[in-house]
Amino acid sequence: MTVDLVVRNCTVVTPAGRTPNGGVAVEDGTIVAVGRSDRLPDADRVVDADGNVLVPGIIDGHIHNREPGLEYKEDWESATRAAAAGGVTTVVGMPNTDPVIDRPDHLELKFERGEASAHVDFQSYAVVTSENIDQIPAIDEAGALGFKIFLGSTVGDVPPPNDGEILEAMERIGETGKRLGFHEENGEIIDHYTEQFQAEGRTKPIDHSHSRPVIAEQEAVERMLTFAEETGAKIHMFHVSSGSAAEAVARGKARGVDVTAETCPHYLWFTEEVMREKGNVARVQPPIRDADEQARLWNALEEGAIDTIATDHAPHTPDEKKVDDPFGNTWDAISGFVGLETEVPAMLSFVDEGRFTLEEWVRRHSTRPAQVWGMYPQKGSLQVGTDADFTIIDPDAEWTLTDRDTLHSKNCVTPFEGESFTGKAVTTVVRGEVVYEDGDVVGKSGYGTRVDVDTE
Ligand SMILES: [Zn+2]
Repeated sequence: MTVDLVVRNCTVVTPAGRTPNGGVAVEDGTIVAVGRSDRLPDADRVVDADGNVLVPGIIDGHIHNREPGLEYKEDWESATRAAAAGGVTTVVGMPNTDPVIDRPDHLELKFERGEASAHVDFQSYAVVTSENIDQIPAIDEAGALGFKIFLGSTVGDVPPPNDGEILEAMERIGETGKRLGFHEENGEIIDHYTEQFQAEGRTKPIDHSHSRPVIAEQEAVERMLTFAEETGAKIHMFHVSSGSAAEAVARGKARGVDVTAETCPHYLWFTEEVMREKGNVARVQPPIRDADEQARLWNALEEGAIDTIATDHAPHTPDEKKVDDPFGNTWDAISGFVGLETEVPAMLSFVDEGRFTLEEWVRRHSTRPAQVWGMYPQKGSLQVGTDADFTIIDPDAEWTLTDRDTLHSKNCVTPFEGESFTGKAVTTVVRGEVVYEDGDVVGKSGYGTRVDVDTE
């Protein structure tokens, strides 16, 4: 038997363990064998992985691909080019585009654009606002991966639902079987301190961080846990930034709430000192926290409060990020930065430091995101019969991101510029097609496909 593709001479790592001298065989985009290299079939194409590590394709469940409507920042083609180069095989786009993804036809538009130009597989969330709760069943039918509510004002001017509307939305989403995620910051607390700080003339980058205190995040988590306990809804906390919020998630899990949570590499890598070192380049919402909150976030992650790693990849132009004057008036700058090409290196650097094992990393960065969002085992498993998505990594590669413009996004401002890493993705394979190897994106724009989800 001769199959389409075999990767051999690698250590295969899944959450269940590792196979040395292993490999994977692929036919028609599907995995047909996983195991020792010498037992794999012949293939039309053989990739020698050179002793590196092969893991199920990395899934980033939180990116802002900006299309439709904000293509001057990023689009499906550029975001998924960056994903391929970063070792990411599936991305999920956020709904605060233009138009916002709040109706079935807007979702279909977003999917059409992705089908036309994506390099890797993709999906999208739909937003729930104060104006579209009646649209939830139709949005579900149109194939959204899940739903998102922005608590408080955010980038994109999405009108936030009030607490009554959130309760009703949870009931309706519960009927779809899908999960509802939050931008969990209490808008009233933030608006109060933002106005106060601005009136006092506090304009430093660190002032932006302190205008969004940890209690704003923790309170929002606690309130949504209470609502989910009442309604039975499945909920998710995007971009948990603090130990206080992560500990609240842990308490919710302990009392049986179906809550999952995500954190991002920047909250684990930097402390708020980065605002004094790199200024508004590192401005993000929720903000990067102090060392105590970060240490407690790590503890909560290790103890299981945090399910998934994602980037909150959020490109803006250098002008919007005020890179020419990074310590200028923070209220003139914008929040967010790219992350698709530094998430795997950052997490592998933590593995190198012994913060967790390769297996524990793969679980949080591939298997759990697939499970949380209903894409498992098609994604995130490496099981025979599932999509042949995998990422080959060199865990020992030492390198520094010296020039952000070597990244593949349209706009590449990131606080990870200048940082040094141990580990990186060397080859990315999506449904059996090599989309990135030898430092080049070799896949075709338009190859990426929407991931079908079935929560029935
Ligand atoms: Zn985001």
